[in-house]
Amino acid sequence: MGGGELTSPTAPAESIRVPEDLEGLPVVVAGLGVSGLPAAKALHRFGARVTAVNGGDGEGPRRQAAELDALGVEVRLGDDRTLPEDARLVVTTPGFRPDSPLFAAAAKAGVPVWGDVELAWRLRGVAAPAVPWLAVTGTNGKTTTVQMLAEILGAAGLKTAPVGNIGVSLIDVVLGTPPFDDLDVLAVELSSYQLHWAPSLRPHSAAVLNLAPDHLDWHGSMEAYAADKGRIYEGNEVACVYNAADPATEELVRGADVAEGCRAIGFTLGSPGPSQLGVVEGLLVDRAFVADRQRNAQELAEVSDVTPAAPHNVANALAAAALARAHGVPPTAVRDGLRAFRPDAHRIATVAEIDGVEYVDDSKATNTHAAEASLAAYGPLVWIAGGLAKGATFDGLVQRSAERLRAVVLLGADRALIAEALARHAPEVPVVDVERTDTGAMAAAVDAARSHARPGDTVLLAPACASMDMFVNYHARGDAFAAAVREWETAPAGNEH
Ligand code: ADP
Repeated sequence: MGGGELTSPTAPAESIRVPEDLEGLPVVVAGLGVSGLPAAKALHRFGARVTAVNGGDGEGPRRQAAELDALGVEVRLGDDRTLPEDARLVVTTPGFRPDSPLFAAAAKAGVPVWGDVELAWRLRGVAAPAVPWLAVTGTNGKTTTVQMLAEILGAAGLKTAPVGNIGVSLIDVVLGTPPFDDLDVLAVELSSYQLHWAPSLRPHSAAVLNLAPDHLDWHGSMEAYAADKGRIYEGNEVACVYNAADPATEELVRGADVAEGCRAIGFTLGSPGPSQLGVVEGLLVDRAFVADRQRNAQELAEVSDVTPAAPHNVANALAAAALARAHGVPPTAVRDGLRAFRPDAHRIATVAEIDGVEYVDDSKATNTHAAEASLAAYGPLVWIAGGLAKGATFDGLVQRSAERLRAVVLLGADRALIAEALARHAPEVPVVDVERTDTGAMAAAVDAARSHARPGDTVLLAPACASMDMFVNYHARGDAFAAAVREWETAPAGNEH
């Protein structure tokens, strides 16, 4: 990777007490947005002298700058490089790369850097009662798992919300800003970026769902990415939940310094051993939070209670159940919560079934690990893939999925990379190359997929790539897919696009 030296959280951060030492403290907030604005406001509220810096100066930042300006907070738009001379603390948002010049300047000046999650953790109990954090990270499945967890906790009568990286500032949450003023427990999604800058975070319990290469341009290496994810286990009090099928996650548990008595709890799609949750004859079962776990297991729910019941999603449900059980939630609440859960849009959503072919939108499968999980849930299938590869390679994914593929339709900037992997490992699979990149490209892809699909097949949009080469975001990509499918569904027989 290019850029300067990587910086990591440093010890002097410990010496600043929150909120006492914030009064009059010169603090730089790096970045506005969902987490920067609440951070700047909170620091201002506790008397800090805040300067907010932000690289972009578009409409959104300008609106936020005006809001801060009205409070008397200085904002420097278009300047995210220089550290004001008197700065004593930097509070950063996840968008800033650790090799940003601002951090190099802070390291040189001995100024500590906290992420917004670190600040939130230190503000617990200051303005609202501190409640336990049940934390979730992983390369894929975070949002789904915290939403399942919140449903389960809610079914147990607890007041909670899915918060954090899901788009809800933890600073607002810990300060008890409505609607977060009366919560019992938090279901917290954390990204690797947020964990990087949160050295004193100590969750009640935490889960790492899986680990696959992603965001390596930010972290610098797979080792650094894994180490940042592993921070979520530090100081856990009750349970460190790991994926028994992903030894790297268990390795992170072994490396963590946890509270006395904290347990390692595995989840598996197979039959669970002691201290694990798993699946037996269509049932989700708990062999961890039961009396006499050598001999006993507790039924929690049926696999069919999980929507969709694709294997990776059942794994997410087991992780959510493990965290909820670590918090003392009864088995019936696990079942009721899972039954109530519905995934967000564009995550393995069935759009239509036409002529015996199921059309599934998993536009959120933006990396190869997610796409592989999706493909593994179906077969035989026509796979629609492509977009921005973000430096990924596709050989492993294609090798492990080849036998399920009826045909593949490729679109987007990096489609040739997937085509090459297919030529190497699955030369017999028909490949349609959609060259066009205009608004009609997705309809052309769906048409091509339809012409290859047979009754009983699935047409699956699981791009394994980011969407921004052709679409505003993965939502727009999924919407284009669904629109193309529905247009066909409602078109008079014989109508060809
Ligand atoms: P995240 O918040 O980590 O991005 P989401 O819950 O939004 O995760 O799911 C993103 C995509 O990742 C889904 O559309 C699906 O393709 C895939 N996915 C979800 N859970 C898993 C899992 N446990 N393992 C692998 N892939 C998964």
